[in-house]
Amino acid sequence: MHPRLAADLSQLPGLLEVTRRHATAFIDGLEDRPVVPAPSIPRAVPLPEHGGGLRAALAEFAERWEPGLSGGAGPRYLGFVTGGATPAALAGDWLTAAADQNSNTSLDGTGQRLERQTVGWLRELFGLSDAHRGTFVSGATMSNTVGLAIAREWLGERLGVSPAEDGAAALGAVRVLSGSPHSSVAKGLSVLGLGRAALVQVPVLPGREAVDPAALERALRESEGPCVVVANAGTVNTVDFDDLRAIAALRERYDFWLHVDAAFGAFAALSPEHAHLVAGLDLADSVCVDLHKWLNVPYDSAVQFTRRQDLQARVFRNAAAYLGPSDGDPDLVHLTPENSHRLRALAAWFTLQAYGRDGHREIVERCVAGARALGRAVESSSRLRLLAPVRLNVVCFTTSGEPDAGRLRALAADLADEVFVTPTLYAGVPALRAAFSNWRTGERDIARIIAALESVAARY
Ligand SMILES: *Cc1c(COP(=O)(O)O)cnc(C)c1O
Repeated sequence: MHPRLAADLSQLPGLLEVTRRHATAFIDGLEDRPVVPAPSIPRAVPLPEHGGGLRAALAEFAERWEPGLSGGAGPRYLGFVTGGATPAALAGDWLTAAADQNSNTSLDGTGQRLERQTVGWLRELFGLSDAHRGTFVSGATMSNTVGLAIAREWLGERLGVSPAEDGAAALGAVRVLSGSPHSSVAKGLSVLGLGRAALVQVPVLPGREAVDPAALERALRESEGPCVVVANAGTVNTVDFDDLRAIAALRERYDFWLHVDAAFGAFAALSPEHAHLVAGLDLADSVCVDLHKWLNVPYDSAVQFTRRQDLQARVFRNAAAYLGPSDGDPDLVHLTPENSHRLRALAAWFTLQAYGRDGHREIVERCVAGARALGRAVESSSRLRLLAPVRLNVVCFTTSGEPDAGRLRALAADLADEVFVTPTLYAGVPALRAAFSNWRTGERDIARIIAALESVAARY
C-alpha cells in the first residue's frame, strides 16, 4: 500500500474525528456565514503528484474552497427550492458513504430491500396506493425523465411497437400536453428522443399557473391517437396545482398517460390543511417527487413512482449473465438509467425513522407559516408587491412601480449576505421568489429575512 494511504488507514478513527469536528463547525457557522458569499474562485493548482494525506487535504479545502460555499443547508437560503439535511438524514448520508454499498441487485440484496421498504413508506406519506411501485433516482429531473420514458413505452404499447427496441422514431410524432411544465420536462423529452417540440403548452386558468381543464380537453380532442399529459402539482413560481381529479377523469374519453410532476408539491399531502391540493395524485400513471428539497435529505435524492413497472423494466432492462432478473420483481439495475448507484435510500430511511410522518409534517407546516408571514410583510410594504397569493411555501413578489429585471437582480445580490432569493419572470413581470423548505427556518429567521428585505428594498 502507498505509504500515505497506509498512514491514513492506521489513523482512520482520529482522522474521521477531525473531519466530524470540521463538519460540525461548518454547520454551526451557518447562522453567521453569508448565505451566498460573493464569488472568489481559487486559483487552479496542478494535479498533486505526491499527495499530502487526508489531514493536509482538509486544510487545503478549508483554506481554498470552503469560504466560497453557500449556506444552502441553512435557514435563510430561499433560492430555488432547496431544503437542507435533518440531523438523521445527515447521519444516514455519512453512513451511506461509510458502507459504500452498490444496492442494485438481489445478488447482494440488503440495500435493495432497504430501498424498497423506504419507497413503501414514501408511498404512504404521499397518499399513494399499493398499485404504485417506485425507485430512488438522483433528482426530480431524473424522476420526470424516467416517468416520461415509461410513458414513451406505453405509447408504443398502444401503437403496437416498442420504442425501447426500435427507437423513438417508431412512434412518429408525439404530443405531451402540459399547462405550466417545469423546464426539466423539456430536457427529459430531449434526452428521450421525443424532442422538446413534442411539448404542447396548454392554456392555464386566468391569473393562475394551473391548467384550464376545458383547454386541456380541447387539446386532447385535437390529438390524433394516444398522448401524454404532464400535470403539475406545485409550480415553481406560485405553487399552483392542477386539478388532478378533473384531469384523471378525462381518461374516460381520451387515451393518455398521466404523469404528475409533484417535485415538492407532493408534500402538501402531509398537512391536513393542504392535502386537498394533491387529491387524485394516486390516479396518476407516474409521479415525480423530489426528496432533496422538502424531505430535507442531502443531494442527490428523489423518488419516481409508476403503476406500470413492467414497462419501466422494458425500457431500463440491463441484460447481463451476472445480473439478477428483469421480469417479475425486477432488480433495481433494471429500473433506472443508472446501473450502479449508492444506497441513496438510507438518508431518507433515517429521517423517516427518526422523525416520522409527524416530524416531517411539522417541517412542512412551519415552512408554510414562514411563507405566509413573509407574504404578509410584502403586502404591507409600500416598496414591494405580492404577485400571487401564497398558496403553500413560495412567495412570488416584485418591487412596486415598474419592475426591472436588472434592478431586481441587483437587489437580490445585495440581499445575499442575509437571505438568498432567486429571480424569475411571472406572467411577464420580472420578479423574485422566496421558497421555504428548510427544516431549520424559524421565527427568528423570518424576522431577519423581513428586516433585510425591507432595508435593502428601501434602496431600490
Ligand atoms: C426542482 C424541480 C424539478 C427538478 O428537480 P431537480 O431535483 O433539480 O432535478 C422538477 N420539477 C419541479 C416542479 C421542481 O420544483
